[in-house]
Amino acid sequence: MCVNPLAAVPSFVLGPGDRRRMAAFLFLLLVPLLTVSACGASRVVVPVLTNPAALAMPRGALTLTTPQATLDGIAAVLVKELGLPLPGAVTAYLYDSSSSFEHGLVNDARVAPVRAAELSVFAFGIARRGQVLLNTEAAGVNVEWLRLIAHELTHVAQFELAGGEGRGEQWLAEGMADWVAFTALERLGADSLARRRVLATAGVRRQAALARSRLDLQTLGSPRAFTIRHQQEGSLPTYQLAFLMADYLIQRDGFPRVVQYYRSLAITDRHVAFEGSFGQTIDAFEAEILAHLQTRSTPDPATAPAASPR
Ligand SMILES: [Zn+2]
Repeated sequence: MCVNPLAAVPSFVLGPGDRRRMAAFLFLLLVPLLTVSACGASRVVVPVLTNPAALAMPRGALTLTTPQATLDGIAAVLVKELGLPLPGAVTAYLYDSSSSFEHGLVNDARVAPVRAAELSVFAFGIARRGQVLLNTEAAGVNVEWLRLIAHELTHVAQFELAGGEGRGEQWLAEGMADWVAFTALERLGADSLARRRVLATAGVRRQAALARSRLDLQTLGSPRAFTIRHQQEGSLPTYQLAFLMADYLIQRDGFPRVVQYYRSLAITDRHVAFEGSFGQTIDAFEAEILAHLQTRSTPDPATAPAASPR
């Protein structure tokens, strides 16, 4: 799941040439979506390419000029660059408003109506096995649209690895999804992982759990409790905290170890999978990451490396 990207958009430092290229990129990206809306349709179905042999690495974000090209291009980064498996059939459902998104959650993803009503208020995308459902109102927020797609496709890959939904730690699922999304943006020349890391490090200073020195990863591990926590403690800092924790694990143990963790969830429970993959209990990791985050310097986001769209 991914919450309102409008709240998650850091500013870019762009030169005049960058601005022209990004404006052209946004125009090309949005035209197909706006055309769909103008025709009165509220739902577009896009089958996503997932076969590695059929996927071609995009040359950059500016080449992603249609929803099909965007979804296939990001799938290519996940599958070919990062080695994440996607199921043989993945379908993207694009909705042009929060109300059509809510109906889609019920009709296309079989989400309970009460839960769909709740999700459509704050979420712009969700993933199910072989499905991503996206509210295209997020498409107006430049690279956040690409981030949202990469984030949700990562959840689809997690479900494929684990053999089902909700089997791992939710904070790691969300943190890994953002790590992959930022890495994909970097590959596409639209942002950098380092810049997102600096922004997140500054952002979590406002995160309530970090401020009170108790992350409580046992509750952040539950999908429902994660949702409640980010609603209570702020979506952006909670997702930034999840990203930094996943980023720490990936820098310490490598990305393939996280992939291995998801594979092991298919055959064992979440606590055994975590300890088997990362060599420590979740409680031990919580103590380690808390100390790391509290001692880490918090540089000014203004000094973050600039994005370099192409
Ligand atoms: Zn998510």
